[in-house]
Amino acid sequence: MKLMYSSTRNDEVKFTASQAILKGLADDGGLFVPECIPSLDVSVDKLANMSYQETAYEVMSRFFTDFTEEELKNCIAKAYDSKFDTEEIAPLVEADGAYYLELFHGPTIAFKDMALSILPHLLITSARKNNVKNDIVILTATSGDTGKAALAGFADVEGTKIIVFYPKNGVSPIQEKQMVTQKGANTFVVGIKGNFDQAQTGVKKMFNDTALEAELDVAGYQFSSANSINIGRLIPQVAYYVYAYAKLYKNGVIGKDETINVVVPTGNFGNILAAFYAKNMGLPIGKLICASNENKVLFDFFSTGTYDKNREFILTNSPSMDILISSNLERLIYRIAGNDVAANTKLMADLAAEGKYAITDEMRQQLADFYGNYSNEAETAEAIKKLYEDCGYIIDTHTAVAAGVYDKYKAATGDKETKTIIASTASPFKFTRSVMNAIDPKYDAMSDFELVDELSRLGNVAVPKAIEEIRNAQVLHDTVCEVEEMPQVVKKFLGV
Ligand SMILES: *Cc1c(COP(=O)(O)O)cnc(C)c1O
Repeated sequence: MKLMYSSTRNDEVKFTASQAILKGLADDGGLFVPECIPSLDVSVDKLANMSYQETAYEVMSRFFTDFTEEELKNCIAKAYDSKFDTEEIAPLVEADGAYYLELFHGPTIAFKDMALSILPHLLITSARKNNVKNDIVILTATSGDTGKAALAGFADVEGTKIIVFYPKNGVSPIQEKQMVTQKGANTFVVGIKGNFDQAQTGVKKMFNDTALEAELDVAGYQFSSANSINIGRLIPQVAYYVYAYAKLYKNGVIGKDETINVVVPTGNFGNILAAFYAKNMGLPIGKLICASNENKVLFDFFSTGTYDKNREFILTNSPSMDILISSNLERLIYRIAGNDVAANTKLMADLAAEGKYAITDEMRQQLADFYGNYSNEAETAEAIKKLYEDCGYIIDTHTAVAAGVYDKYKAATGDKETKTIIASTASPFKFTRSVMNAIDPKYDAMSDFELVDELSRLGNVAVPKAIEEIRNAQVLHDTVCEVEEMPQVVKKFLGV
């Protein structure tokens, strides 16, 4: 049986997985969701002996049912290969009683590689399956990590072009350098004079611009999205929770069917939603602990039932989580509304018009599996310093937000026994200055690359290849534009 997908704002039109992947966002502005979450009908004893690639196949084949086995295995093999610096792909590291799931061993040393190394292959396969003749133009707004991971994934992939917009003053120097040095004739990187939400809104507008769509079609192009709203990014992320669970079982850390908790440093709500999907497939996850930084719109949502983005946008040292509109939350809202298109559409209209919405008590009751909290900047720095001093293990600022929230969770609930996975979403080498300053403010006097070497020495880990590569790389992209100019920039790049 084929699993079909529909929009969170219209469930009358059904799409296959490959059609949903190709479209990215539904025409009505909604997000594609599967009609139901398939169950993971594979025993943990079997999973325990599987490689990452085999586990990914088990998970993805349940969702992407219109892909043949050969197509899917081919996509997986091309994605999770020697681009990753460890055969485990996503290793688990125990530190201070928690299990850090290191999702940063891919080409850009952040967790977005987990999905963006496979999305280009899923997209190209989907295009072939649906007889698409146009070239695919990927439009992406990034708060830092998505941009580089998407560029790395799509660079020189035939039949695609990729255009990335980032907030000019809203990403770390290393993040910016990684993007503007990207090679590949099909890549284009633009800084905008605005914040991430403005970049994202600008991209969404272009997706919904039917006149622009027609113009592009004539020129042989069509848009697609690599942002975490694409179902082709969300589903591959489910795999690492299954993989991590099976590894904990294999290593004797947990018994059969033992419940674990998961802590996720959250921005756009994609990573934690993948954990929620894993739970709904049947993986024994207890609490889904949603960790925010000072842009704590999600913490407030879980505490009050009101999502309200009308607040100051705060630039923090965990910039990939500096987000006021968590796009993927719409998939959860739709679900807790009982897959009710009208109810979800109304709430999203409230969000667009008022910048806020309130869910019903009935909906709130279905959020019992979630625990939300946040770490401020001082708490985040303290979490890095403490873990380093106690265990010698150095985590990045995003992961530290999660570590800080995990401590608050334990203190608030007394649940100290449940084995817990903390999603470790970036290498500390990606946010070197913030990480080193947290350990000791004296490091602020050093240059970026001196800090890299010092971090390598302190943490006793080699400098990742991704960092070595940008030391002397040439800047290849220097376009900067106003938010309003985004469509013109796109047309110019495509020669339309
Ligand atoms: C994107 C990102 C996050 C947030 O993940 P979401 O899926 O958007 O919630 C957290 N940490 C890092 C390092 C990221 O790049």
